[in-house]
Amino acid sequence: MSAFLRLTGLRKVFPGGAVAVDGLDLDVAEGELVALLGPSGCGKTTTLRCIAGFEDADGGSIELAGGRIDALPPERRQATMVFQGYALFPHLSVFENVGYGLRVRGVGGEALRGRVDAALDLVGLGGLSARRPQQLSGGQQQRVALARALVLEPKLLLFDEPLSNLDAKLREQVRLEIRGLQQRLGITSVYVTHDQAEAMTIADRIAVMDGGKIVQLGAPREIYEAPRSRFVADFIGRANFVRGTVRGRVGDELRVEALGALWRATAGPAAVAYAEGQAVEVMIRPEDLRIEVAGSGVPATVLSASYLGGQAIYQLSHATETLLVVGVIERGGRLLKRGDSVGLRIAEGTVRVF
Ligand code: ATP
Repeated sequence: MSAFLRLTGLRKVFPGGAVAVDGLDLDVAEGELVALLGPSGCGKTTTLRCIAGFEDADGGSIELAGGRIDALPPERRQATMVFQGYALFPHLSVFENVGYGLRVRGVGGEALRGRVDAALDLVGLGGLSARRPQQLSGGQQQRVALARALVLEPKLLLFDEPLSNLDAKLREQVRLEIRGLQQRLGITSVYVTHDQAEAMTIADRIAVMDGGKIVQLGAPREIYEAPRSRFVADFIGRANFVRGTVRGRVGDELRVEALGALWRATAGPAAVAYAEGQAVEVMIRPEDLRIEVAGSGVPATVLSASYLGGQAIYQLSHATETLLVVGVIERGGRLLKRGDSVGLRIAEGTVRVF
């Protein structure tokens, strides 16, 4: 992959010694959207602000389209930020808000009008250009913020939790819109979020961050199905962690004892050498636990059942563990209830060990 945006050894230390970004490497391909995902304080926003030029990095380099940009002022980087709070001017119309950045850059007259109208059409706000921001819904304000970034025709779009002011339903809608537009225009993008569902929906690849570093980078599915650490497994989606013991090795796989039975398992960090008898944490995704009739598999009892449109989420109690299980409920299918006895199997090839 040839990189369109390349961060090499990026480092940012704040006065007082907080290391916000700790030698971060990242390549983003042209037209790709990479989400930076991680818990509060892991350095996502600081990384984004270093790319935009709002923070000076203390080390490393930032290249865009083959040239170093880290010494340039923000307005010359061709990387435009879409902010969390939209940062719209309340006293200016939608048209003037979107055209502001062009005016600052000396664009006016017909050229400005044409570009602003085109940007507003792109985000579906063509008819609302005379309104003030407070006369718009949250979703519409977010689209104005997007149009204001797009109108500058940046090489790189930087999103800083752009949907956090919207309610859940609108978030889902607007993130699909952003994704559609980003793909249609082919704009290389970096998207900061702490919401794993948002990252999964919107990104080509997700960079999971912890402590100022990327701890795993990959397509959403790869990160979900093959997390390299407990931290990543826990952060992306739901996971059961149960106690286990290594009982041997077969080729690349481990044999582990957990929940009173023997399972084949993949080692999370493949390089780690596991010893016979070693205590490990065993990770099983809730949808990989299959419920069967009582008497077969691992015995468990239903503690609680919630129906979630086509799916059931069960909390089960096993002799030594509490387990979360997600099951498909077909039309007319039976929902288990508290106190029911069941047997559990684990889908082949899904157990991971950390
Ligand atoms: P959040 O999701 O909460 O925004 P984040 O992953 O974006 O978190 P950053 O905002 O990048 O994290 O912060 C990374 C670290 O740097 C944190 O420990 C934070 O306290 C620290 N930090 C951020 N900005 C400053 C600042 N201006 N001065 C000092 N420390 C800062």
